[in-house]
Amino acid sequence: MPIARMAYLAGAVLMFGFLASDALLDLSVVSRTLPVRAVASAAFLALYYFSRAKDAALRLNMLNLLASLIAGVGVSVVLAMLPQGFAHGVAGLNMVVFAAVAVTPSWRQTLNGGLVVLGVANALLALTSQGWFSFGQLNIYLVPSLALATLLSYLLQARHLRAYALEAELERRATTDVLTGVANRRHFSETAEREIDRARRYGNKLSLLMLDIDHFKRINDTYGHAVGDEVLKKLPGVVQPLLRKLDFMGRLGGEEFAIVLVETDGEGAAVVAERLRKGLAAVEVRALGVQLHFTVSIGCTEVRVNEQAEDLKRALERADEALYKAKDSGRNRVVVG
Ligand code: GH3
Ligand code: MG
Ligand code: MG
Repeated sequence: MPIARMAYLAGAVLMFGFLASDALLDLSVVSRTLPVRAVASAAFLALYYFSRAKDAALRLNMLNLLASLIAGVGVSVVLAMLPQGFAHGVAGLNMVVFAAVAVTPSWRQTLNGGLVVLGVANALLALTSQGWFSFGQLNIYLVPSLALATLLSYLLQARHLRAYALEAELERRATTDVLTGVANRRHFSETAEREIDRARRYGNKLSLLMLDIDHFKRINDTYGHAVGDEVLKKLPGVVQPLLRKLDFMGRLGGEEFAIVLVETDGEGAAVVAERLRKGLAAVEVRALGVQLHFTVSIGCTEVRVNEQAEDLKRALERADEALYKAKDSGRNRVVVG
């Protein structure tokens, strides 16, 4: 059973336990405490019930509402019981401690909140000089209850953290190219489309580069596929430091990469492309016992954000045409399209 639900069930059972202890200690108080215990127990059971709700928004709303209710009832019980004998307020304090499990998934907050409750309760007891017996009565319930709530909170938090980590990892896998670590084609397209929308809206310049390694087949054939992979892995590490932070790079497939240059016109893009071309040509790849150089051809184009019909597809087509021209006219060069 999920940890949080265990806590809610434990809370409900605890309230019944208090009813039994009320009866044992002083039968006459039962008529007063019964409604409070029943409301709190029902609220815990409702927490238990709603924690299974499929609708996440409903679940969160109900859990928060009920946790606040339990904490509120808890505080009222303490206040109401004060004149009649402080020990009965323990039940209320317990509710507050347990409600913390529902409102905060952090075990530190549960523990800190509980320690404050424990400290205040003991201080009040000491001030009203209720005798050693009441201290025992207070702490015998409250300390184990706080320990249990903290443990439950800890387990809950650990589970949440695992879930978050898993989610982040899934997100990373869905958006990243495994070999090179840059954005995959889909993630690149989504980001590029967003940048086009943004540039259009704010009237900014935007350019697109398409980069393809020259004679990559030859590298594979000469040195092996594994060395080819090493070349691909090396490329982003050379390119990215030559770009600005907001520029965005992705691997479209094979040995073909695309880059969005924000706030850059066609002329600026050609300058950047030339810098990349030179930078990459100067790199010596050392991998698996071989050393090699490689070159790239780059097609670049300014995105025509003022034209209605312009979109990512068209801009990529133009960059691709320019790339083709670069290949056709001898490779290792930049062509603006
Ligand atoms: P060009 O200069 O005209 O671009 O010639 P090229 O040989 O680079 O172009 P082509 O598109 O004919 O060849 C690309 C090669 O890239 C073919 C394919 O086997 C290889 N390739 C595609 N993906 C990978 C990969 O992930 N790793 C490796 N090692 N090779 C890949
Ligand atoms: Mg190629
Ligand atoms: Mg290619």
